[in-house]
Amino acid sequence: MHSDPETFSQLASAISGLHLQPPPERVLPSENIVTQAREKLQKNLSTSGIGFEETIRHIRDDLAPGFNGSSRSPNYYGFVTGGSTPAAALADHMVTIYDQNAAVHLPQESIATNLEDAATSLLAQLLKLEPSQWPHRVFTTGATASNVLGLACGREYIIAEASAHRSDTVNSVGELGIVEAMHRAGIDKIQILTTVPHSSLVKAAGVLGLGRTSVVDIGLPGASHRFDVAQLKKLLEQPGTASIVAISASEVNTGLFATSGLEEMQEIRKLADMYGAWIHIDGAFGILGRILTSPSYADIIAACAGLDLADSITGDGHKLLNVPYDCGFFFSRHREIPERVFQNPNAPYLSTGAATDAIVSPSNVGLENSRRLRALPVYANLISYGADGYRDMLERQIDLSKGIAEYIIDSPDFELLPESDRPKEEVLRGIYIIVLFRAKDEGLNKELTSRIKASRKIYVSGTAWDGQPACRFAVSNWMTDAKRDLPLIKQVLAGVVEGWKKA
Ligand SMILES: *Cc1c(COP(=O)(O)O)cnc(C)c1O
Repeated sequence: MHSDPETFSQLASAISGLHLQPPPERVLPSENIVTQAREKLQKNLSTSGIGFEETIRHIRDDLAPGFNGSSRSPNYYGFVTGGSTPAAALADHMVTIYDQNAAVHLPQESIATNLEDAATSLLAQLLKLEPSQWPHRVFTTGATASNVLGLACGREYIIAEASAHRSDTVNSVGELGIVEAMHRAGIDKIQILTTVPHSSLVKAAGVLGLGRTSVVDIGLPGASHRFDVAQLKKLLEQPGTASIVAISASEVNTGLFATSGLEEMQEIRKLADMYGAWIHIDGAFGILGRILTSPSYADIIAACAGLDLADSITGDGHKLLNVPYDCGFFFSRHREIPERVFQNPNAPYLSTGAATDAIVSPSNVGLENSRRLRALPVYANLISYGADGYRDMLERQIDLSKGIAEYIIDSPDFELLPESDRPKEEVLRGIYIIVLFRAKDEGLNKELTSRIKASRKIYVSGTAWDGQPACRFAVSNWMTDAKRDLPLIKQVLAGVVEGWKKA
């Protein structure tokens, strides 16, 4: 009753009945609708079940109206959520139907791992990273997981590097554990040197036993996103210390990049090599900046130059690649490291059999064993849009962000953050897909985010900057269109000011 072929055709028609693209004004349901939907959640397990048709009806009619609409409307600017293109959404449904387990490379039986290899190769090409130089490529559940992979690989590498002059055998954290491996390496401290790290990097340090306090912010005074390179050198050369340098390639509050050009990356690479450090890039959404080519985006292009000098890179699929949750990716230039960290030891039933190609089983180079075929939606988007399609998408997102930033700068009621006395044109050139701002009136500023959200026409997220409330637009949807979206944003912001002044 629950699995006959008829149910599958019912499923197909149920899916096609769902609206992929309702009108943009439905950015959020009303609070009322959310409350109603919450009350309809089934709390008690029924003995006999309500059956397929009633379940679909329940989800579609009772629950779906209460979802927050984040991936449905381009006017959702809270968090960097992206959206889901039609190609990716369809591919994701197929992933569910085919239900492949992309864990073990079984080339005689399935193309799942070849597909993942092809998708990560296309993705590397999109990001101007030569696939053969980035042999360790896997899809993850998101950038948080990718940051865990980056620090885990970095931890393995820096301890081995610190031991290299003491012994010929590889000193592996994966094999010996961190305490024994550090002891053998003569290392008593691991530090992660960074600027304005994303919370998930600090979380990864905690998960991996490096400790949250191992993350050291060495930003420049007055430009906290930039490295104090002199300080970096001083900390790297401390004896008995192994280091990971983590570069925030577009910081989540401001969209600013930690490095400003090739020379700075070359300098950091030189220092890392001198002291056996690993360079990890958190480019969850920033790494996409590498696809830009037009001189109108010269500052972003420069900020992304040299990111290929890193050892590892975190990227998100469910943000700017506009595929459904959960999808992130991780690239590393090191072929030897992943199996030392992620191998499944002594599991003959996970053997790849007679595979003769270079593809390794994802379960030996990533976190999970059983895993969803996350590659298919990414593959679908990459072949459907191509490099030009993705570039056009990102340009539309940046252009809208610049439009919002310009409106904020010109407005007597708002102020763009971080504060800057640079000329407007210069500030706008540095805008990527994030716009951080506040209201000049302190009272309004406290309520700014909630008043904007109350419009239910656009959605933004609140954050804090310099100890004060601030508000943030993150533009990441594939449907973004400045001509259509900017007037609505201006209208909402002007309305919020007007409403505040009247009250
Ligand atoms: C979003 C984000 C993350 C975390 O990504 P998830 O996909 O939510 O796990 C990490 N770093 C940066 C810079 C981000 O923007």
